[in-house]
Order: sequence, then structure tokens, then C-alpha cells
Amino acid sequence: MTTSPAQASAPSDTPGGRPRVVIVGSGFGGLFAAQALKKAPVDVTLIGKTAQHLFQPLLYQVATGILSEGEIAPATREILRRQKNARVVLGEVTDIDVDARTVTSEILGRQTVHPYDELIVAAGAGQSYFGNDQFAEFAPGMKSIDDALELRGRIFGAFELAEIAKDPAEIDRLLTFVVVGAGPTGVEMAGQIAELARRTLRRDFRNINPTGARVILLDAAPAVLPSFGEKLGDRARRQLNDIGVEVQLGAMVTGVDADGLEVKDSDGTVRRIQAATKIWAAGVQASGLGRILGEQTGAEVDRAGRISVQPDLTLPGHPEIHVVGDMMALGKLPGVAQVAIQGGRYAAEAIERRVVGKKPQEPFEYFDKGSMATISRFSAVADIGKFQFSGFIAWVLWLVVHLMYIVGFKSRVTTVLHWLVSFLGRGRSQRVATQQQVYGRLALEQLGPRWEVSKTGGPKDIDPADEDVTQRDSA
Ligand SMILES: Cc1cc2nc3c(=O)[nH]c(=O)nc-3n(C[C@H](O)[C@H](O)[C@H](O)COP(=O)(O)OP(=O)(O)OC[C@H]3O[C@@H](n4cnc5c(N)ncnc54)[C@H](O)[C@@H]3O)c2cc1C
Repeated sequence: MTTSPAQASAPSDTPGGRPRVVIVGSGFGGLFAAQALKKAPVDVTLIGKTAQHLFQPLLYQVATGILSEGEIAPATREILRRQKNARVVLGEVTDIDVDARTVTSEILGRQTVHPYDELIVAAGAGQSYFGNDQFAEFAPGMKSIDDALELRGRIFGAFELAEIAKDPAEIDRLLTFVVVGAGPTGVEMAGQIAELARRTLRRDFRNINPTGARVILLDAAPAVLPSFGEKLGDRARRQLNDIGVEVQLGAMVTGVDADGLEVKDSDGTVRRIQAATKIWAAGVQASGLGRILGEQTGAEVDRAGRISVQPDLTLPGHPEIHVVGDMMALGKLPGVAQVAIQGGRYAAEAIERRVVGKKPQEPFEYFDKGSMATISRFSAVADIGKFQFSGFIAWVLWLVVHLMYIVGFKSRVTTVLHWLVSFLGRGRSQRVATQQQVYGRLALEQLGPRWEVSKTGGPKDIDPADEDVTQRDSA
């Protein structure tokens, strides 16, 4: 059954305080929703698994040493410090009870229950290995700062190991980089590794020739950047070839191990690629919170874990629950930043209207501002409305748009400086990679999910029924 937004909990249902809006996720959907509620007479609690707002589109530049992690991941708390009606809570949301209207978050064994009157869920998506999760051990994805730093360590480390290797076959294996997935992330990553090898590192080694490194971009699909259409896909492929990236299409990865990959071509041939560094940029799986919500509300959850929302981005029978961004399924909307930003703002507006007694908005309508992907310095493809660009113009457009969306003046200034170093010069300012970054993920997986509490002692003042009442005080 569908309930109209007007039937949702009224502000008067909240005894003694302003309506409580809980937002899950500090990514594009969550942060922009919180900011859009700045002037609304509500109390906002934004719960994030990390303490930062991550600008995912530039993760590949952290992985390849162009930018530092701080530039693309400012503290959420700092961004919202002047917004008096918003507070930030660090914790992973593990449960949502739609009948009790509570969200449970957890950190270091401490559980906190947050009551809500309105809920915005924007927990995004993680990597999908299409049922082959064992690939993750050897082919990390690129969804978080941890992932980008691990990849940075693996990429720079491969050149270091090649420098001291003796066997030519082993040197070849170390200097072979395979990126799986020819969507925007894979294309940008492959392009940057090629530039790193051919421009930045070309004079840095004595025994190896980094410019001879093999960079392979693989995809089971027959096209590069399929969402950009055939023309731009072909141009991107040519530009990749020009900078020395081998594009292998119709190639499905059937196995990954420490030494390389097994690939099945479209004609059925099975072959092996020896490669030390494998990067997975092939698929996404929405946050498991979608399934939790689906089970309780009856909303459909698709194979990628995305939950079907109504035209107003709420769930059936629950006009107080809004789902936005990569987690939601609505028509054929893609999993891109603009869908999350516009969805987050729309949900915020719906809440504000309800609270102040205005009539509901029209159904959500996505305004497509276009898509872009860089191939290398001075070269990109852009698909904007009726216009398609490639080469330098597209690259300048990409530069301006990305700079606009980087949060914070300081981050913008340092990003421009680092881009000057890398794009006008040959340098990369961020080449630090620690052992912990490279091996930490696998070591933590071996320790098991409860390692944090067992090794740090956890918080000392745990009350098992910890209820979040602090926001009530602030009302
Ligand atoms: C490498 C990469 C490159 C990309 N490039 C582009 C691009 O060029 N252009 C473009 O438009 N889009 C791009 N995207 C896609 C874009 O980043 C996403 O569509 C967008 O981030 C989705 O926003 P969101 O708010 O739904 O999720 P996210 O931005 O992913 O935010 C989800 C938030 O929820 C938090 N979270 C997750 N689970 C929990 C939990 N259980 N409890 C609490 N918090 C939780 C996360 O920590 C995160 O803060 C790229 C994505 C990646 C990974």
C-alpha cells in the first residue's frame, strides 16, 4: 500500500522537541541532504561509517600518487561545523527498525539507538565481484580511502620489486598491471598507471625501464565506456591505445590469484595473464541496508541490492523513509554523483515542506548534467546533453567541474597545485605508501570482525541499551 507523504508523522508527534531527521551516510546523498536542511526547523543527525565525506571520482588520483587522501576526503564534522541544527556521529548502521522508527549504529562494540521522525538512507554501494568474492584478496576494488592507499602501495611497490628482481619473466609479471572493468573508473585508472610509468617514473630506476610496463584494461563487454555511446567509447579506446594501454574487450575474468588472472575470451579461448597488480573496477553492490529495509517494507530489492523507491524517493507505506543515491532503484537512473546529490536535496526539501505544512513536491525528476571521464593529462571524453567532446576541451571541462565539487577552499587550492605538478610537470607529490596500507586489509580480515574491540579494549562506559538522547537536548 502506498501512503501519501501528507500522512507521515507530523512535527507534533515529537514530544517536546523538533522533528528528528536521521541521515545514514556522509557521501554525496547524505551530505547534500544534511546541508539542504540547514534552515529547516529540524534536528539532523548524520551517521557515517567514516568521519569524512569522500569524493569518490578522484580516488584513482590518490591511488596513483597525484592527490593526497585529505584533499578528497575532508572531515564531515568540519564541513557541517557552522550548521547548528546538524550533528555528526561516527558509526556503522547495522539495523533499522521501521516500526519502532529507530536506527542502530555501532562502533568499537558500542551500540547506539537513534530514534527518528524522518529518515534519509544514503549508504551508497560497495564493490561487487559478481559472486566471486575470493577475487578480492588479489584484486582490490576502489571504493574507499583504504582501497586507494592499498592500491597506491601495490602499484609503486610493483616497480620497486621489479627493480631488484633478476628473472626477466618475473620482471615482466611485476611490470604488468591489469585493470578489470572498462567503465569510467577503470579507464581513468588504466590511463593514470600508463602515465605514471611513461612520464613520472621513466628516469627513476636503474635496472628496469618503467616505460615498458604493460597496462591492460579488460572487460567482458564489447565496448569501452558503454554508457557514453559508441562514438565516445571508440574515441576513448583510441586515446587509451595512444598512451600505451592495451584494451582487451569480450574478455571475462574467470580466476584471480597472486600471480595473475585467468581470462575467457568471447570465442571461448581460456588464457592466462601473469600480473602482480590487479585492480577490480567492474561492478557495484548496494549497501546491505537496502535489504534490511526491503524485508520490512516489502519494497523490491534488485540483484545489485538496490531498493525500489517510489517517485518521491520514499518506500511504500513509509513516507518518512527516503532512500537516495547508489542504494535506490528508480527507472534507469545511473549510480552517479549527480543522482545522489539531487536525490539528497529532494528528500531534504520533502521533509522541510512536511514540517512547515507546505504541500508535497512533484515527483523526483533527475536533471542529467552529463558525464565525463579522463584518459590522461589533456585528454578526456565528455557527454553533455546533445554535445559530445573529446580531447583537450573535454579535459578542461572535466577539470573545472571536478574542482567545483571538491569540498572546501583549502582542498581546492592544494588540488590545483598538485594538478600543476602532475599535469604540467611530470611529478607526483603523493608517493608515500606504508606497509600497513598494503597489507592491513588482509591482516585485519584474518583477525576477524571483532578485532577492534579485542585489541583496543573498546569503550569503557558501555550501556547495552545506549539511546541517543543528546539530540533531544539540543532541540
Ligand atoms: C572510483 C569511483 C569513481 C567514480 N567516478 C564518478 C564520476 O566520475 N562521476 C560520477 O558522477 N560518479 C562517479 N562515481 C559514482 C559516485 O561516486 C556515486 O554515485 C556517489 O558517490 C553515490 O553517492 P551516495 O551518497 O549514494 O553514496 P556514497 O557517496 O558512496 O556515500 C555512502 C556513504 O555511506 C556511508 N556508509 C555506508 N554504509 C554505511 C553504514 N552501514 N552505516 C553508516 N554509514 C555507511 C559511507 O561511508 C559513505 O559515507 C564514482 C565512484 C567510484 C567508486
